[in-house]
Amino acid sequence: MDGKRLEYKGKEALKELEKSTVKVGEVQEGILKDILKRNAATEYLNQFMKGSTDISTFKLLVPVITYSSICPFIQRIANGEDSSLLSSHPITEMLCSSGTSAGEPKLTPSIAEDLDRRTFLYNLIMPIMNQYVPGLDEGKAMYLYFTKPERSTPSGLPVRPVLTSYYKSKHFKCRSRDPFNDFTSPDQTILCTDSRQSMYCQLLAGLLNRHHVLRLGAVFASALLRAINFLERNWVNLCNDIRSGHLDPSITDPGCRSAMLDLLKSPNPVLADEIEAICSNKSWKGILGQLWPRAKYIEAVVTGTMAQYIPTLEFYSAGKLPMVCTMYASSECYLGVNLKPLCDPADVAYTILPNLGYFEFIPLGNNNNGSFLADDENEEVARGKLIDLAHVSLGCYYEIVVTTFAGLYRYRIGDVLQVTGFHNKAPQFRFVCRRNVVLSIDTDKTSEEDLHKSVTMAKKLLEPYEALLVEYTSCTDTSTIPGHYVLFWEIVSHGQSSAMNELTQFETHVLEDCCMAVEESLDYVYRRCRTLDRSVGPLEIRVVEPGTFESLMDFCISQGGSINQYKTPRCIKCISALNLLNSRVCGSFFSPRNPIWNLDPLINKRN
Ligand code: AMP
Repeated sequence: MDGKRLEYKGKEALKELEKSTVKVGEVQEGILKDILKRNAATEYLNQFMKGSTDISTFKLLVPVITYSSICPFIQRIANGEDSSLLSSHPITEMLCSSGTSAGEPKLTPSIAEDLDRRTFLYNLIMPIMNQYVPGLDEGKAMYLYFTKPERSTPSGLPVRPVLTSYYKSKHFKCRSRDPFNDFTSPDQTILCTDSRQSMYCQLLAGLLNRHHVLRLGAVFASALLRAINFLERNWVNLCNDIRSGHLDPSITDPGCRSAMLDLLKSPNPVLADEIEAICSNKSWKGILGQLWPRAKYIEAVVTGTMAQYIPTLEFYSAGKLPMVCTMYASSECYLGVNLKPLCDPADVAYTILPNLGYFEFIPLGNNNNGSFLADDENEEVARGKLIDLAHVSLGCYYEIVVTTFAGLYRYRIGDVLQVTGFHNKAPQFRFVCRRNVVLSIDTDKTSEEDLHKSVTMAKKLLEPYEALLVEYTSCTDTSTIPGHYVLFWEIVSHGQSSAMNELTQFETHVLEDCCMAVEESLDYVYRRCRTLDRSVGPLEIRVVEPGTFESLMDFCISQGGSINQYKTPRCIKCISALNLLNSRVCGSFFSPRNPIWNLDPLINKRN
C-alpha cells in the first residue's frame, strides 16, 4: 500500500472495500511490511528492532504501549527535534485527541498522507448510504460541523483536533464538487472558530434550505442536541433574519457574514412564517421532521456513551427518522464503517478497514461482566497475547491496538470492542466502551480514578465543618442540555448521619465550593468542554439521606451481586438504582461558575 494513493470514489471505493475485506490477512501484512520498511530506522522503533524490518521481530520485541511511553518522543518533536524520531515522513501536525494524560490533551503525530486515508473512509460513506437510501444526490445535507481554534507547538507544528484539520484541508473543500456532498452550511460557517456564530449561521442556512434538506446531523449526537437547544433559544432571531433578509448584527465574522448575505438575498416572510408557526408549538416533539420535512434520516454517532442521547433524539424526531451511525474513527487512526447504516443503533457494527493501519487486539475474555474495565492501563500486556485482525473470534471482547504510518506502534487507543460478525473476511465490531471511562457527556472522558481523585480533593472542604463524606457515586444527567455530571454524596456530620435539617449548618456555598473543587480537579478536556465548548453543564452534587448507600447495597445484592465482593459502584446507569438514589435526595447544589481552564503551557496559541 506504500505510496499507493487511496483515491477512490463512488463504486470504485466500494470495490476497493470488497477487495480489501476479502484478503484481510494479506492486506494487513502488506500494511505492516510497508510501515516497517519506512519506519524501522526511526529512533523509536530502532530501540527494539535494531534495524530489522522483519514482521516477526516486530511482534516479538515491540512493546504494547499507552500514551505515557510515546509522550517523550512526541514532546521532543513538538519542541523542534526531527520527525524521524517516530516517522520517516515529516510530521505535519499534532492532533489533539479527546483523551488526556496527566491532565493535558494527548497529542498524536500525523503526516500529510493521513488525509488521504481519512478521505478514503469518508468517500465510502455516501456509496454505502446510497445502497439503502437512493436519491440523496437530489437534495442537501444539513450537517452541523465545527472547527476549533488551533495552536502550535514551540517548533511551529499546528496543534488541532482531527476534524478541524480535515475541515481546513483541500480534501474537504473538494467534496463540494460531488452532488452527494451538497451541504447547507457554507464552508466559511464551518471554518468560523467562534462556535456561537458558526452555530447561528449553520442553523440559519439549514432553515433557509428547509425544503431541500434530505438528511441532517452532526458528528456526535451531543452536538446535534446542542444545536436543537440553540434553536429553541434563537429561533425568533433566525426568523427575523429570514423575514427581513438582514443578518443579525451579532454575526461579525467576515467569512460568515459574506457567506450568509449570499444566502439571504431577499426578504422571505413566507418561509419565516412557516418556521415561526412550527417553532411556536408548545411541544417540540417531532420538530426535526416538521422543520425539515424531506429529511430521511439523522446522522450522528449514537453508539458508545452517545447512546444516552437516543431517547432525546427520538423525542425530537418523534421516532420517525432513523438514526444512522456511519463511521468509527479516532485521532490516532480512522478505523471503520457501518455497512448496514439503517440498522437499530443497538446493532451497529463497524467493519474495520484493513488498509488504514495495522490492527491488533488484546483479548479480554468473552463474557460481558465488565471485568475488563478494571484492567490496569499501565500493566504490561504480553506481546505474544495479541491477536491479528484476521484472527479475532466471533463474540469475543478485545481492546484495539494500532500501528500507524505516522509513528504510533502497538498503541492502545483505549477502546473495547466486541466481534459481532464478518464482512467477507473482515471482522465487524460493536463499540462496547472506552476502557476505564465512567462518565462522559461530550468528548470528555472521566475514569473512576479521575473521579475518585477529584472527590478526594473536594471532600476536604467539609472538614472544617466536622462533616465527612461517607460514600459517593455518580451518573450523567442528559435530561438537561447540555448534560452534566451528578454526584450523589452521603455526608455524616458530628459523627451522626446528616439529614437535610442538619445540612443547613453548611452554608450552601460549601457544597457549591465542593462542586467547583471537583470540576477544578477534573482533567483538561472536561474543563475545556465546560468553559470553551460549553458542551457540558455545571456539575451537581445531590446530598442523599443517611442510609441511602446501605439501601443501594441491598438493592445491588437483590439483583444478584455478591455480599462479599460488593463495592459501591462509582457510576450508576441502572434506572432502578438511580430512582432509589433520587428518591433519597435532600439537597441539590450546582457549580456556581466555570472551572479554570488553561491551555497546555507547552503550546502557543494561534489565532
Ligand atoms: P478522539 O480521540 O477525540 O479522536 O476520539 C476518538 C474516540 O471517540 C474513539 O477512540 C472512541 O472512543 C470514540 N468514538 C469514535 N467514533 C465512535 C463511534 N462510532 N462509536 C462510539 N465511539 C466512538
